[in-house]
Amino acid sequence: MRKDYLSDSGSALFPSPPEREKWEDWLTRAIIGARARISAGPVTPNFDINVFREELAAFDFDTTRPMEDLLSWTISQMEHGLVHVTHPRYFGLFNPLPTFPAECADRIAAAFNPQLATWTTSPAAVEIEAHVIRAVGQRAGFKKPTIGCFTTGGAEANFTALLCALTRHCPDYSMAGVRAFSGQPVFYVSKECHLAWLKIAHQAGIGRSGVRFVRTDGTGRLDPTDLQGLITADRGRGQVPIMIVATAGTTNAGMIDPLHSCARIAKNEQLWFHVDAAWGGALIASDDKREHLAGVEQADSVTIDAHKWFSTTMGCGMFITPHSSALSSTFHVSAEFMPSNLEGVDPYTTSIQWSRRFVGLRLFLSLAAVGWKGFGRHVEYAAKMAEFLCEQLRVREWSIANSSFLAVICATPPEGSLALERFPEYLSEAGNAWISVATFEGRKVVRACISNALTSKADIEILVQSLDRAR
Ligand SMILES: *Cc1c(COP(=O)(O)O)cnc(C)c1O
Repeated sequence: MRKDYLSDSGSALFPSPPEREKWEDWLTRAIIGARARISAGPVTPNFDINVFREELAAFDFDTTRPMEDLLSWTISQMEHGLVHVTHPRYFGLFNPLPTFPAECADRIAAAFNPQLATWTTSPAAVEIEAHVIRAVGQRAGFKKPTIGCFTTGGAEANFTALLCALTRHCPDYSMAGVRAFSGQPVFYVSKECHLAWLKIAHQAGIGRSGVRFVRTDGTGRLDPTDLQGLITADRGRGQVPIMIVATAGTTNAGMIDPLHSCARIAKNEQLWFHVDAAWGGALIASDDKREHLAGVEQADSVTIDAHKWFSTTMGCGMFITPHSSALSSTFHVSAEFMPSNLEGVDPYTTSIQWSRRFVGLRLFLSLAAVGWKGFGRHVEYAAKMAEFLCEQLRVREWSIANSSFLAVICATPPEGSLALERFPEYLSEAGNAWISVATFEGRKVVRACISNALTSKADIEILVQSLDRAR
């Protein structure tokens, strides 16, 4: 029985060490080959979706197939059926070419499959993550040691911030929910914020109408006068202001809200001050550019995504706070079936997740390999490429709508050009580059972000030529 099990399905699911080595080597070579072809080919999918759907439907999970067929089929679908964020001319939505140390970390985490719910079961992994969170907090300028957690991304980190803010404002929120408040809890973000905040308000039970959108100043930054006005008006109507969110690096245009003014208003009004630096947070690595984030160290909490400008693989965000008990008062629970109940230590008592993958290793290994200096150069290079793109577009009489220190450009073509919405489609049909269309300060713009560390001036020239041809 056991022998049959091992030879039929066991060897596919749990191969012997020599077999494993064979497959792992095969995969390594297949991936390196695919990567090379991807960089030389189109950015966008180039397969027949109908053929793909037929092939997919043929997987009935009754018949089985050899690993070799499965792996090569999968690699081929990835090669031809994705927008390639690893392509040097993917000027996209912050999705990076992942660093090699981050890829190694993914593989190591998969091999050991540690469970990070408790410290007791995975002390090495839990402490590596806590070390990284402390180091990032320190580098961001916090005077006190920071705690926090790795998250699936910025949205989960921002959700964590709102839950902490609600719980601190009204400890009864944990038992009674929003009924604990004397009026509707509300929080403040700029109109240029990331729209995940709407889902977050919904998830937290305060409702989407609890999100107050603050006016921007015409350059994409939150207007503090409007913020103050909204807070006063809300208090007058019996609503309960909870939190101010400043975005440091808006998703569309890379603008940084006035952090000092937001911090001052939050202090006067006794509100939680959160900085959403999901993408822009990587500026802390650069000695030249970190000054643009001055004020972030006054925050009650910060979101920084490692899977954006720190270029780890997907699913790696961070929530960071200097308040040592904020997380445990929000997420405390003690489960007798768990191998340990170390309040404030076990990650399942300090974060949204329960079972937890070891994602922090990706940033740990990347930072350990090149240091803040290496990431500083990484950030500065992208910003320099964005400047180059700006110059090239201006020469061709495009207008630049944003003025960001980060690596994203919002531009509009000269009058009489092709309709703006059609540019992405035109570029991806040619397979030359991937860009998006966004709205910045109420205007439609073409948006290009340098998110790949290997994007060169030559790639930018190809983008600009393609844009020019398109118009
Ligand atoms: C990307 C982004 C988010 C959402 O983060 P995910 O990692 O996609 O969950 C939130 N805020 C800002 C400013 C972002 O750029």
